[in-house]
Amino acid sequence: MFRNKNNPIIVLSMSIRILILAILFLNLSCSRRDEAQKKHQKAGFVERHHHERKWSPSLPQKKSLPQYPWEIAQKTAHPVITKEFFRCNGSSMNPPRFIQRTKVNVRLDDCGGANSHSLPLKGEKEFIYPILVDLLNYLQEKTEHKVVITCGHRCPQHHFYARDEVQNRYSKHMIGAEVAFYVSGMEDEPEKVVELLMAYYDGRGPEYTQFQRYTKSDTDVSTLPWYNKEVFIKLYQPNEGRDFDNRHPYPYIRVQVRYDRDLGKRVIFRWDEAERNILRY
Ligand SMILES: [Zn+2]
Repeated sequence: MFRNKNNPIIVLSMSIRILILAILFLNLSCSRRDEAQKKHQKAGFVERHHHERKWSPSLPQKKSLPQYPWEIAQKTAHPVITKEFFRCNGSSMNPPRFIQRTKVNVRLDDCGGANSHSLPLKGEKEFIYPILVDLLNYLQEKTEHKVVITCGHRCPQHHFYARDEVQNRYSKHMIGAEVAFYVSGMEDEPEKVVELLMAYYDGRGPEYTQFQRYTKSDTDVSTLPWYNKEVFIKLYQPNEGRDFDNRHPYPYIRVQVRYDRDLGKRVIFRWDEAERNILRY
């Protein structure tokens, strides 16, 4: 019989042979791979010990977000005091003042207040010594009366506009380490407020709990100031310490920070800090 390679039977036969060879080759490759995998596998069983129990995850619980101070304020009688309360009282609406200095009439203009500059900066953030904020919130909590801050931070420009006496040129108001205030509803009981300020330190060690009286005569108050390691407290009678920010008729209290607990060193007024350490807009 004549063999023709175009014969369909022959072509089919050859295709089947090629297919069988391909299957054999693939099978051989797979079996080699399985052997290699088994070689690296370690036999073992996952067992449970008698004290182990099946773990079941607890259901997610709804957790409320921490509250902002103004949200807390709605639940208490008075707003919680934050460093925002300490912003400079200056205003460009205040008229210029003229004072006499060594036969020269000097014009004093007020600053633009919180619209024109920041609070003192510390690590590029606005900063008020936290002990002042804590003390005032403590007073509000204990007295259930509102603390009225008459003077928190003062930039140098507003400080000299508000109080131009030479002896007050180193005020710690300018570095965020001093506050002047009275307690609304307790205007005639400033001594009680001072007692509460001292009570804040109860249980904090003798250098904080034992307040001493400052007996030197270089102060502008008739009541001997009190001080511990951290703060210096002055009580101004109605005829004392009146300035642009304290034009009210009540006695008031000034608290200065003497010691920085975080840094472990005394707080000292520095001109460069007062003048340069604020951001002007
Ligand atoms: Zn100012």
